[in-house]
Amino acid sequence: MFFTSTRKRCEISASAAIAKGISDEGGLFVPSEFPKFLPGELESLVKLSYKDRAARVLHKFLTDYTAEELDVCVEGAYEGSFDNNEPAPVKEIAQGVNILELWHGPTCAFKDMALQILPYLLSAATRKNCPERTTVILVATSGDTGKAALDGFADVPGTKIIVFFPRDGVSDMQKLQMTTQKGENVAVCAIEGNFDDAQTGVKNIFGDREIVKFLEERNMEFSSANSINFGRLAPQIVYYISSYCDLVKNGKIAMGSAVNVAVPTGNFGNILAAYYAKQMGLPIKRFICASNRNNILSDFIATGIYDRNRAFYTTESPSMDILISSNLERLLYHLSNGDCEQIAALMGELKSAGRYTVSGEMLTKLKQEFYGGFCDDAAARQTIRECFEKQNYLCDTHTAVAVNVYQKYAKDSGDTTPVIIASTASPYKFAPAVLNALGGNGDAKDGFAVMEELSALTRTPVPAPLAGLREAEVLHKSSVAKDAMSDFVRSVL
Ligand SMILES: *Cc1c(COP(=O)(O)O)cnc(C)c1O
Repeated sequence: MFFTSTRKRCEISASAAIAKGISDEGGLFVPSEFPKFLPGELESLVKLSYKDRAARVLHKFLTDYTAEELDVCVEGAYEGSFDNNEPAPVKEIAQGVNILELWHGPTCAFKDMALQILPYLLSAATRKNCPERTTVILVATSGDTGKAALDGFADVPGTKIIVFFPRDGVSDMQKLQMTTQKGENVAVCAIEGNFDDAQTGVKNIFGDREIVKFLEERNMEFSSANSINFGRLAPQIVYYISSYCDLVKNGKIAMGSAVNVAVPTGNFGNILAAYYAKQMGLPIKRFICASNRNNILSDFIATGIYDRNRAFYTTESPSMDILISSNLERLLYHLSNGDCEQIAALMGELKSAGRYTVSGEMLTKLKQEFYGGFCDDAAARQTIRECFEKQNYLCDTHTAVAVNVYQKYAKDSGDTTPVIIASTASPYKFAPAVLNALGGNGDAKDGFAVMEELSALTRTPVPAPLAGLREAEVLHKSSVAKDAMSDFVRSVL
C-alpha cells in the first residue's frame, strides 16, 4: 500500500504523506487501496482498550511505521490526557440513538482526538526520514484548532509550534486557552487583523524563500497541522470503529449488524473518516451529513453542484461556518474511481469560478450512501432544549445540528437503524449559546459566570480544563501587525 495525490498519480509512503501534508500540485494524499478487516479481526478489537484499537487500526494504514512506533504514538496521545482515560465514550440517549462524545480531551472539542496524536506521528516520520531535523508547525486559527494544536505539540521533542490568531476575532475564552499555554517549544501571537489576514500571512510565510532558507540553515522545516493532513484523518477513523465495538460490547447491537452515522460537518474531515471506516469493512449503511445555515454540502448532495458563490453566515456553531470543505476532494476522488485528471479539473473550476458540477454517475453513488440536511440557529436551540428536557442530555450547538438533522432523516425515511451521532464539543465550550437555548441569558457576561450558571441550571460539571483557566497565568502577550508575522517567526526561531 502507498499514498497518491488526488490530482496527480504518485507513490509515497505514509510517513512521507504525513510529513508533507499536501502534495506539490495542491492535491490531498489518499491511500492507494483500503485495508480490509480480516475475518474475525473486528471481533478481536471488542475486548481491547481505545489505545490498542487505535494502534491496530492505524497500523493498517500507516504501513511504514512499526507496531512499536505506533504503540509509542498512541501511548503519548491517549494515556493521561482524556477524562477517565476514555477518549471516546458512547452514551445512548434514546432507543438506538447513541452519542459518541469526542470532547473529553484537554481542549474540550473533537480536534483533540487527532491533534493529540499528530505530533507523535509527525516526529516519528521525521525521525525515519531526517533524524536531526526540527519540524516547525505554523497555524493560523479562528479559535479551536489553535489551542488543540498547541496542547498536542507542547514539549513534543523535535517540534516547535507557532500559532497566530486574530486579536479581535476569537472569544475571550478561546484567547485565554491559547495565551496561557505552557511548553518550551510553543509561541502564540495575536495579529492586528482578521482570520483571513492571519491565514494569508501564514501562507505567505510558507512560500517565502528567504525564511525557508533561514530554517534550512538551522536544520528546520515548516509543516502544517491542517485538517487535510492524512495524519489527522487516520486517528479519526479509529473512533467510529471503537464506538461500534463498544455498542457490541454493551449488547446494544450484534456484531455485523448495520449502523448509521450522523456528523456535524464543516471541512468534511470527520464524516470522511467514517466513510474510510466503512471501506475497511465497518457495516455503516448511511452517512448523515449535517450542516448549519451555511448549507453548501446539503445542496451539493441534493444536486451534484458545489457552488460557493453564496452568502456566508456567522452562526452559533462557528466551527461549521465553512464554504470550502477541503476534505470533500478525497471523497470525490474515491467516487470517481481514482480519476486524478477529473479531480484536478473540478478543483480548478472551484478555484476559478467558485463552482463545479460532478458527473451523474458520481452523484448517484454519492446519494446511495450520503444524506445531506441542515438547520439554522433557532432550530438547533430548540433541539438543545428538547434534548435536555426529554432525554436529560446536554449537547453543544454543533452536536445539536447533527441531532436535528438525524431526527429529520429518521422521520422522512422511516429508517430505524441504530445511529452513532458524533458529538464534537463540550456544551461548556459554547456556554453562552447553550445557556440561551435553555431559556437563560448568556449574553454580555463574563465567560466564567456563564459557565457556572449553566452548571447550576443543568447540574453538570464545568470541565476542569475550562474551569482551570481562571487561575492560569497569561504567558503570551505578543501582538504584531499583519505584515510583521515573518519577523515574529524569525525572532522565535
Ligand atoms: C472542526 C469542528 C467541526 C467540523 O469538523 P470537520 O471535520 O471540519 O467536518 C464540527 N464541530 C466542532 C466543534 C469542530 O471543532
